[in-house]
Amino acid sequence: MAQISILGGGLTGRLMALLLARQGHCIQLFEQGGKDGNLSAAFVAAAMLAPMAEAVDATPLVLQLGYQSLDLWKQIMSMLPEKVFMQFSGSLIVWHAQDSDISHRFAQQLRRGNGGKEVWQNWNGDDIATNEPQLGGRFTSGFYLPTEGQLDNRQTLMALANAIEEVGVQCHWNTAVSLTDITADWLIDCRGFGAKADWNTGKSQLRGIRGEVARVYAPEITLNRPTRLLHPRYPLYIAPKENHIFVIGATQIESEDESPVSVRSGLELMSSLYAVTPAFGEARILELATNLRPTIDHHDPEIRVDTHKKILSINGLFRHGFMIAPAVCFAASRILNNALNNQAIEKDKETGIEPVIL
Ligand SMILES: Cc1cc2nc3c(=O)[nH]c(=O)nc-3n(C[C@H](O)[C@H](O)[C@H](O)COP(=O)(O)OP(=O)(O)OC[C@H]3O[C@@H](n4cnc5c(N)ncnc54)[C@H](O)[C@@H]3O)c2cc1C
Repeated sequence: MAQISILGGGLTGRLMALLLARQGHCIQLFEQGGKDGNLSAAFVAAAMLAPMAEAVDATPLVLQLGYQSLDLWKQIMSMLPEKVFMQFSGSLIVWHAQDSDISHRFAQQLRRGNGGKEVWQNWNGDDIATNEPQLGGRFTSGFYLPTEGQLDNRQTLMALANAIEEVGVQCHWNTAVSLTDITADWLIDCRGFGAKADWNTGKSQLRGIRGEVARVYAPEITLNRPTRLLHPRYPLYIAPKENHIFVIGATQIESEDESPVSVRSGLELMSSLYAVTPAFGEARILELATNLRPTIDHHDPEIRVDTHKKILSINGLFRHGFMIAPAVCFAASRILNNALNNQAIEKDKETGIEPVIL
């Protein structure tokens, strides 16, 4: 069994620690932020598990990893010491009557992205009112995408932290490290955007794409599933978490600016939310938050292996981290075990991920 140090304890770092510790490896994890994950992109994310909807512009590999991860999340949840909110009630896509052109285009992209299949159900105004009473009378048609899900990102991060501490991972919270700071048999670099300088000495290039979200509390509103609004200027999603907390997002801005949410973005998110239903007018804004999605130029996740320096790096989970992390991390743990056993490092058969060997 190997001594392994993991740099970065956001989503992938915690998952890798859990999988490898359960295999008997001796793990140390270094995270610059707190145990709650406050500095990670994962802390801000809406954590929707939506491969059908993402098919509109995600790569085929990402979609496949997304579908595989739906089941793998159930497996991971069974390894956690506490219950985490996870839901598979599908998702709903709606639009205002004047934007029906957008819905036609979206349907075409959805069909194309899902192998020509009509994977959704067309809901009329009555279906919407029956299944999402709060939206009744607001929309006359929508697409219902079954099987999609979501989870509570912050509960997941905390439950993963508790799980890895329980299985003996030595966690160094509030400890920023670089690749040269620590020694171990192998290093696993899970620093997300924090790995940019090291990553960009290689072939593919990593950048951050800024996202902004609002968290609101609306005790009088219940939505049963994540809902997206198609809109020409202000597309929006609303991910309902437990206890009437809603995560509203998210802008996608080509910028690595990590400063707080701008007034313009705040206004856009809020007006778009109000347009879904004015009932949100009395919601309380708990938080406006930003973070950077770690994105590689080809928009796929990448697993890099440096067999000389003994570093395995996982990055580029972009805006799909929760959707694909389980499949990516199971693949990375198989690849690492092959390296530890001096076996060939080759394409992971179960996921199709081709590791990049340095
Ligand atoms: C606004 C927004 C909305 C999103 N919504 C969704 C969604 O609905 N569905 C979905 O699937 N995905 C979503 N994502 C994407 C998802 O959050 C990311 O893909 C995922 O978090 C990437 O995981 P990661 O572990 O690579 O990076 P992170 O989660 O960012 O973790 C990296 C960790 O490394 C730490 N770190 C960095 N440098 C150092 C250092 N030098 N030393 C120690 N620690 C360090 C950081 O503090 C951080 O905790 C969203 C992201 C954003 C920003």
